[in-house]
Amino acid sequence: MTDDRDAPLLGLALSAGIVTGVGELGKIAGDLWFSDFTMRSRDAIWMVPAVDGVAFVAVGLVLVLLRRRARVPWWVAAGLFAGIGTLLVLLLVQRLHPLAAIAVAAGLGTQAGRWVRPRVPASVRAVRRGLPWLVGAVLLGAGASVGWRAVAERRLAASRPRPAPGAPSVLLLILDTVRAAELSLYGYGRPTTPELERWAERGTVFERAFSAASWTLPSHASIFTGQPEFALDATNWDRLGPDWPMLAEVLHGRGYGTAAFVANADYVGWDSGLTRGFEHYDDYPVSLRTAVSATSLGRVIYPALHRILPKRLQRWDYLPHPVQYRSAARIADAFLSRLDDRPGTPFFAFLNFMDAHGPYTPPDSFLHRYQSPMPRPVSPYVFIENPPVRLTPTDLRPKQDKYDGSIAYLDAELGRLFRELERRGMLENTLVVLTADHGDEFAEHGFMGHGNTLYRLSVHVPLVLWFPGRIPAGRRVASPVSLQNLAATVLDLAAPGPGRLPGRSLARFWRSPDEAEPDTIVATVRPPDGKLSSIAFGERRYIRDEVTGTEELYDFEHDVLERWSLVASDSGRRVLPAYREALRRIGATEATLAQRNSLHGVPVR
Ligand SMILES: [Zn+2]
Repeated sequence: MTDDRDAPLLGLALSAGIVTGVGELGKIAGDLWFSDFTMRSRDAIWMVPAVDGVAFVAVGLVLVLLRRRARVPWWVAAGLFAGIGTLLVLLLVQRLHPLAAIAVAAGLGTQAGRWVRPRVPASVRAVRRGLPWLVGAVLLGAGASVGWRAVAERRLAASRPRPAPGAPSVLLLILDTVRAAELSLYGYGRPTTPELERWAERGTVFERAFSAASWTLPSHASIFTGQPEFALDATNWDRLGPDWPMLAEVLHGRGYGTAAFVANADYVGWDSGLTRGFEHYDDYPVSLRTAVSATSLGRVIYPALHRILPKRLQRWDYLPHPVQYRSAARIADAFLSRLDDRPGTPFFAFLNFMDAHGPYTPPDSFLHRYQSPMPRPVSPYVFIENPPVRLTPTDLRPKQDKYDGSIAYLDAELGRLFRELERRGMLENTLVVLTADHGDEFAEHGFMGHGNTLYRLSVHVPLVLWFPGRIPAGRRVASPVSLQNLAATVLDLAAPGPGRLPGRSLARFWRSPDEAEPDTIVATVRPPDGKLSSIAFGERRYIRDEVTGTEELYDFEHDVLERWSLVASDSGRRVLPAYREALRRIGATEATLAQRNSLHGVPVR
């Protein structure tokens, strides 16, 4: 298709694409300076210039075809590429209006074309000379990125001491965004979790387990460190800092092979601060989707395709969806294939599943498994505070139906994973911990999603522990417990020794059930413009908005949907001071960790 005459133009296109990619990386690096999350793979360092290079070559090919009919001068092409490149970089600047970006790009492209026009031979030579270096730099970036990780992984594995003889493995399964209320394991009306019900009989089910926060990063951070949310520096803008020892570090120090397989790569990925102690951290797969979605182009095209493509095509792995997470099947398979490589070593594996988090993309049979009858006429609506919209049952119920279907899919995949582990004989000496990082809300309190409130639906999560011969089977613990104590529990059950993590082992509920005290449940959250604290003990659950001073008090035992606040009641007024004082004593109301200002807009969680 091309001849020698075309080669310089395609070379120009490839060079311009790679330079644009480097420009995008510069912007991303700048973001990293102010906010710790890139929402991109570590491989973006080579993927972005590579994708931009290919995209520009595609534009170059169009110009080559055009050239057969009407000559496109070199300097016009140079100006065009400069304009497109500038536009792509500027589109990454959130606060810049796209029209402004287009205007600046058009101006800069025109100037670039004018500048090149009297310098055509020199610029052709410059492209010819520079191109091999640019391509070499991308390849070097790819080699360095992949190679450096492989070396770091190998070095960390080599530093692992010999484990205690017979040390059990630990499998931590975190079902992102799965609230206990939606599982048939916890009495939900729809049979969403038949597999979990069956497998949970082998262990102990905690009926009232609570996460320390209502969104992903601080909740995971609390699980891994044993610290309450308010003591940690993980926020919407900040990764978890290096100050707290982590469960994976302690287990690695006791001879465990450590590996994580996370579907929520944006907030549990390499830049979350949760990776310490893990030899292997599998977040973003190396795929076309990962590569394209790391670029400015992908971030423009993906949402557009999402609007025009049929849903069925969007679920296909290589056609883009703006937010598509690795499925439970793929997370489980990544874990299983890693196991194949490492027989004999006790492992600590952490799997994070995103199937029950929007946009809900399980196979059709699960997606449409539940369909609520719609009331007619459709009313009343619910006013949602965040975002401020009015929703009717016709908006809400299909969402919840899909949520339930997604949980059912996740349940089926967990069943498949457990059967495979059993077939391999790996469940005999493994402590399995199954839980969720937080729940989700469907406007029960005027909010959609999670991370905005501390209502029970957002923080009451499933918790199942099983370990043959070490944890009683078929038991249900009704006492409230906090996930903040999971790290201490895992160490107590699987790898006891000096160097503990904060928290109280939940094993007390079967070792000395009569004396076992319930946990005081503290959950806090710092949404972009607020701060909420909550505490539950005795018969009440108390929630406090630290900014407005608004208080709510609920009957912990009977009002599980938290519909009737007792703040204004006589009984409420009598006990309120005790709850206020308890929160103050714990320090949750005085935590004033530096929170970066909200220049960055509200990210998806
Ligand atoms: Zn989450």
